[in-house]
Amino acid sequence: MAKRKPDAVTCSECGQLNCYRHDKRYPSFCATIDLAPEERENLVDLYAGDNHDAILARAAAEVEGTYYCQLNRVEETVAFARRIGAQRIGIATCLGLIEETKVLVDILRLAGFDTRTALCKVGSIDKSEIGIAEDLKIKCGFEACCNPILQARLLNREKTHLNIIMGLCVGHDALFTRHSDAPVTTLVVKDRVLGHNPVAGLHTVKSYSSRMLDAERLRGL
Ligand code: SF4
Repeated sequence: MAKRKPDAVTCSECGQLNCYRHDKRYPSFCATIDLAPEERENLVDLYAGDNHDAILARAAAEVEGTYYCQLNRVEETVAFARRIGAQRIGIATCLGLIEETKVLVDILRLAGFDTRTALCKVGSIDKSEIGIAEDLKIKCGFEACCNPILQARLLNREKTHLNIIMGLCVGHDALFTRHSDAPVTTLVVKDRVLGHNPVAGLHTVKSYSSRMLDAERLRGL
C-alpha cells in the first residue's frame, strides 16, 4: 500500500477503520499514528472543556448516544439545538424548499424555539448584475441570484444561536457557512435530480448512476 505523504490524510484508502474501536490494525499511512501527543492532548482539552466547540461536540455525541436510530434528522436537530442552549434558530432556505421550511418552522416553534428565516433570493439582485450571462438563467428576464452572504448577515444580525441550511445549492451552502456567525447544520442537501438525497447517486453508481464513473464526462463538467 502506498505510503501516506506526511501531510495527506487518506482515510478513504483505509480498509481497517481501526481508529473507531481498536479492533483491527492501523494502516501504515494512518493519520492517527502520526498524531503528535501534544496535538492529541490539545484536542482532548478542546472537546472536554467548556468552550463553545466542546458544547457542540458533546451535544452531538449525546444526541447520537441517547437516540441512536430512534429520531429522524428533524428530531435530532431539535434535540441538538436544545442541548447547545439555542433559543433562536436561523433557517437559510432555498426558494424550492420554502414549503418544507414552513413545516420546519412550525415544528421548531412547537419545540419552543424562536425562529428567523432568510430565503435564498433575499435582496433580489438580478443574476445579470453579478455577471451571469442571460443564457445561464433558468428563464430569461429578471431572475434573482441566490444571496447566501445576505442570508448569513441577516441571521447574524438576529444573533441566532444555530443556523439550519434548507436545500441551499452546492456552493451557496459553502458561502452561507463561511459567513454565518452561528454554527451551521444542514437539514436538506439540494439535489434536484435525486429528491435531495445525493447519497442515492453513490449507492447506485454501479447501476443507474454509472455515468458518474465516466472520467471523460466528469472532467468535462
Ligand atoms: S484507521 Fe487511520 S487511516 Fe484508517 S480510517 Fe482510521 S484514521 Fe483513517
